Amino acid sequence: MMMNFAYLFATVGLIQGLKFMGDPARAKTGNMLAAASVVLALVAVVVATGWAGSTHVLLLVGLLTVGTLIGKTWSSRVAMTAMPQLVSIFNALGGACAVVLSLNEVYGAGTPVDNKLLGGVLILTALFGGTAFTGSMVAYLKLDGRKLPRPAQIHKVLARLLLAVLAAIVAYYFAMPTDASTYPTVLLAIAIAALAYGIFLTLPIGGADMPVLISLLNALTGVATLMAGLLFHDPVMIIGGILVGATGILLTLQMCTAMNRSLGGVLAGKIISAKSTQSEVEQDIRSITAVETASLLAFSKQVAVVPGYGMAVSQAQRECFALQEMLKGTSVDLHFIIHPVAGRMPGHMNVLLAEANIPYESVLEMTAVNDTMEHYDTVLVIGANDVVNPAAENDAESPIYGMPIIRAYKAKQVVVMKRSMAKGYSGVVNTLFDRQNCKVLFGDAKESLAAIITELKRI
Ligand code: NDP
Repeated sequence: MMMNFAYLFATVGLIQGLKFMGDPARAKTGNMLAAASVVLALVAVVVATGWAGSTHVLLLVGLLTVGTLIGKTWSSRVAMTAMPQLVSIFNALGGACAVVLSLNEVYGAGTPVDNKLLGGVLILTALFGGTAFTGSMVAYLKLDGRKLPRPAQIHKVLARLLLAVLAAIVAYYFAMPTDASTYPTVLLAIAIAALAYGIFLTLPIGGADMPVLISLLNALTGVATLMAGLLFHDPVMIIGGILVGATGILLTLQMCTAMNRSLGGVLAGKIISAKSTQSEVEQDIRSITAVETASLLAFSKQVAVVPGYGMAVSQAQRECFALQEMLKGTSVDLHFIIHPVAGRMPGHMNVLLAEANIPYESVLEMTAVNDTMEHYDTVLVIGANDVVNPAAENDAESPIYGMPIIRAYKAKQVVVMKRSMAKGYSGVVNTLFDRQNCKVLFGDAKESLAAIITELKRI
């Protein structure tokens, strides 16, 4: 009875903690509440299993301490720009845990698997966990800009082949009578094929489709946790798994809608053509100075800021706030427009702007303003590239074709802040720079914004 209450409190705490995390003002409290709930659940497990006072507890506390120290050090040292990579690694670890748990049940604990239910749960744990583990590791390497084999048709072929193999083994297992002697081989084959599938599923997926895949991998880890929870009859693990799995699937579907993609289409992958990745050096670029940008702003009535990954790299969110404060007393009306996949993780820009105390009322969703972009006198694109690339609307050959973009090109004037002519994450040429109304303000976004603010003070 006591244990059930402990599980109930832990579960409610976990759900409430996750709910708080949706609100920047209460996110820290939510994080602490969720962590405390997990500790409560662990204590309940120790008591329920009768481990109290045994060497198991020492091992558990020792491993928890080491894990907490590594996690804490890592999280506090990581640069804000490397946060998406860290999230990918944490997700990968969840997947790895699930595969190890399922293999350990058979190969370590030697549990004879003589019924379909237990066998099925172990198979699904290895399947989802294995895919999430290697898929998230490849996603980590991609987000970190590491050198990986170029996406190729062969990766897609291998991914589909491995998926067919996995489906065949699962079908074979459920169709045949249970045989405890062959089960370990079946499980091992599933684990190996799932680990390979994660790699070839993620390798060919490029630019605009990455956010969808990342949310899918999160969902897979959630489902793997749910399966592991069923294995150990652990209610908190089951509920945590359901929450992560369900929210991950919802986020994946939302991302698909936001990117105008079908899940099947994303998983099938698209290989980037040489034409769409040609050098931007061939483009006719018009540059602008910070002083000129400041006077452009001073003479504008409607101004929009479109932040992107470069704002995170430069950590220019406080300068964005300073610019907003600077323009407050004037006749200039300033909005921030956020693209759903700007940056490198869902909600990346919202978090940064909230951290800089930019009021929510001035932050608009892309869909709310995209049809009226021509009303803006000036659009300041701060370190965004792919999310304002018109090729997504008019170049059917482009890998980002079909992805909704913020139509900055429709504004009277566009100023793009970036350091060089380097491409965005998807590696495709940005045809915005060819437009007559577009100018590039070269330099680090934070420094450029500081120079604009100084000039505005002078005007
Ligand atoms: P992009 O990656 O397209 O472009 C970033 C731009 O920022 C580049 O043009 C870069 O140019 C510039 N930049 C970098 N550092 C600085 C700096 N210090 N100062 C000024 N500019 C800088 O970013 P977007 O936000 O437009 O698009 C996001 C992309 O990431 C999309 O393709 C999306 O699919 C993908 N993605 C998104 C995920 C998500 O969940 N949100 C997850 C995974 C991928 P330069 O180097 O010349 O300065």
